[in-house]
Amino acid sequence: VLMDCFAGSPGQFRNFRKDDFEANWIKVAECRFGQVYQVKLKLWREKCALKSFDSLCANNFYRVMDEASNMAKVKFKYIMSIYGLCSEATAVVMEYMSNGSLNNLLASHTLMWPKKFQMIHEASMGMNFLHTMKPPLLHLNLKTSNILLDDHLHVKISDFGLIHWEEGMSKTLFMEHLTARGNISYIPPETFTQCPDPPRTTFDVYSFGIVMWEILTQQKPYAGCSVTTVLLEVAQGKRPCVEMIPEQMPHECDQMIRIMQQCWDQDHGKRPQFSDNLHATDGILCLLYKKDFGSFRLSVKREHVSTQFSGQKSLLHYTVASGDTESVKQVLSLGAEVNC
Ligand code: ATP
Ligand code: MG
Repeated sequence: VLMDCFAGSPGQFRNFRKDDFEANWIKVAECRFGQVYQVKLKLWREKCALKSFDSLCANNFYRVMDEASNMAKVKFKYIMSIYGLCSEATAVVMEYMSNGSLNNLLASHTLMWPKKFQMIHEASMGMNFLHTMKPPLLHLNLKTSNILLDDHLHVKISDFGLIHWEEGMSKTLFMEHLTARGNISYIPPETFTQCPDPPRTTFDVYSFGIVMWEILTQQKPYAGCSVTTVLLEVAQGKRPCVEMIPEQMPHECDQMIRIMQQCWDQDHGKRPQFSDNLHATDGILCLLYKKDFGSFRLSVKREHVSTQFSGQKSLLHYTVASGDTESVKQVLSLGAEVNC
């Protein structure tokens, strides 16, 4: 049945066979519903990610497949591309993102402010794209582990459109759906009420507010609190602590904080749309780049800077001695400060 479904759509959504991939599958992550592997497609000579759903029952996997075929139609710079599925492995096949998830990066590296702001801006661009589709495509599972990073640490939104509100769905079932992945921090308070309305774009905007806080602080929200505590306190208007944003923030950060607080407003009607935020985040980025990188960019243009990129664990400081343009590009994409 599967093969029939996807036959006749060349170049669109493929059903790969296991032996379309080279034999060595590298496990990247183990998750609740299965595993993520790095695989290499023999045909394209390209690395891909294969996300298996082996703990889902057949019916649920059929649903995932159906959704994945819709997700595959979404093409945008800041959105993860879906190539197809591998029904033999109950898996979805997608673009491989070499730098993993933002969740992991925030825990392992110290990011500089321009890079933080750039990531916020790029993620907003991706979300804005989904929300300006007709009808809007709601993500409903936006979190730092679903924001992935390419070779140059630019972001792409992944795993969108897998969770749906269905007409007549009970509140309990929907909440189970949402919280099954341990995402309580990203769920807006209006969802906790007795008879919640179907989720709207403002659901994702709320989740994005939490993501912004995580990027700005590099901490986990509500660390050490139980699910029930989070649920009760968020319902009463509590949010992650803004004072945890490092004090040495540039003054442009004030505007980011305002946007973040609007995004997680208790009243969903007061939350902005992603399109509203983009003007502000774009403006902030321009300011920061002029301020921090003007002279460096000039140096790159004049090709005076030949650098050797010595990557340390902290993205705060890189030693740039002598080297190649690839390193320079990488340093710029990291938003690192450069002493020539
Ligand atoms: P959810 O199932 O709710 O999306 P999750 O995001 O935590 O939960 P996965 O989507 O399975 O779990 O991803 C687990 C990890 O696998 C990610 O955090 C990321 O590090 C890695 N990963 C996922 N997709 C890719 C990809 N396309 N390229 C590279 N790494 C990926
Ligand atoms: Mg995910």
